[in-house]
Amino acid sequence: MNLEERLKRRIRAFGPITLADYMTAALTDEAEGYYRRRDPLGASGDFVTAPEVSQVFGELIGAWAAISWQQMGSPDPFRLVEIGPGRGTLMADALRATRAVPGFHQAIRLHLVEVGERLMERQRAALAGWQVTWHAEIGDVPDGPAIVLANEFLDTLPIRQLVRDGSGWEERMVGLKDDELVYVFGPTALSGLVPPTLADSLPGTTVEVSPARIAVVDLLSRRLTAQGGAALLIDYGHPESRSGGTFQAIRAHKTWSPLAEPGTADITSHVDFGELVRAARLAGGAVHGPVGQGLFLERLGIRQRADRLAQRDTGMPEALARLIDFDQMGTLFQVIAITHPDLPIPAGFESMPE
Ligand code: SAH
Repeated sequence: MNLEERLKRRIRAFGPITLADYMTAALTDEAEGYYRRRDPLGASGDFVTAPEVSQVFGELIGAWAAISWQQMGSPDPFRLVEIGPGRGTLMADALRATRAVPGFHQAIRLHLVEVGERLMERQRAALAGWQVTWHAEIGDVPDGPAIVLANEFLDTLPIRQLVRDGSGWEERMVGLKDDELVYVFGPTALSGLVPPTLADSLPGTTVEVSPARIAVVDLLSRRLTAQGGAALLIDYGHPESRSGGTFQAIRAHKTWSPLAEPGTADITSHVDFGELVRAARLAGGAVHGPVGQGLFLERLGIRQRADRLAQRDTGMPEALARLIDFDQMGTLFQVIAITHPDLPIPAGFESMPE
């Protein structure tokens, strides 16, 4: 039975499901989940990510990782981890750019966290020559000091939507009407997750919360605080918690209805970095940023690197604009680092007030 039929059957039997349950099924259902068997990236796919725009992105993230490793005291071995590595492009560019850093490559134990079979194959090809260990979940990566990278991973994690109703909150769910998937409202147990700044919102206001993202950031922050290391999280979203719904689907570079043909479109939402910062601090880690991707990459020297690459890559000026301009990826994308509290301020976050 196809995924849509299975979801309908479940709703008929047990009632409406949360947006998070719907999103989890649509993206990672073992048989038909969007990420399981396809490579959705690139011009011929559904969306293009920063590492696919230009090699300069992964190269600078590589430099960031090498500097962070040195700040940690150059531990050998350490775990270099990427969550949701797509085609492996970012990691391949990062590794190529850091070949000359003394001792860095010898110290790396490479771990990738991925659910997609097709993408895993692409990662294997992109990282030929490296010994890679794959994991289904970040919690499965073995102990030890770590540098963790994640670009456009957190937006794939499920959210839930609360809507202000009189003096309380109700939850937007997925139910059935005339045998079609539709949004319905139900009681919620999550009103405690509404940020204090939004607690007194007007009736009808939507607030998105993501227990799944909180759980990942909590785990990372605890791990880095106990075992040492740093994480760099990059995604589209807003630097502080705000109201408004951003639950959306993209298919072939166009907006798609999230409830239509589950499993065939990328379903995401904007990442609330305010929620991540609070969760990471609560778990003991030091948090740097958020800072816009444009400013972050400029601080890492993207202009100088792009100038050099432009001598043989005529597409470079356009790629640079795409990555850093405020009306492209420059401010829509935000970056935070979570580090062991004893580490110095990581590269790219220098003049950020803590
Ligand atoms: N970082 C890459 C790919 C971003 S797309 C880039 O910037 O190009 C999201 C990635 O996260 C894909 O590799 C996808 O398969 C993976 N992914 C999605 N949900 C996941 C989950 N629950 N656990 C692990 N990986 C997941």
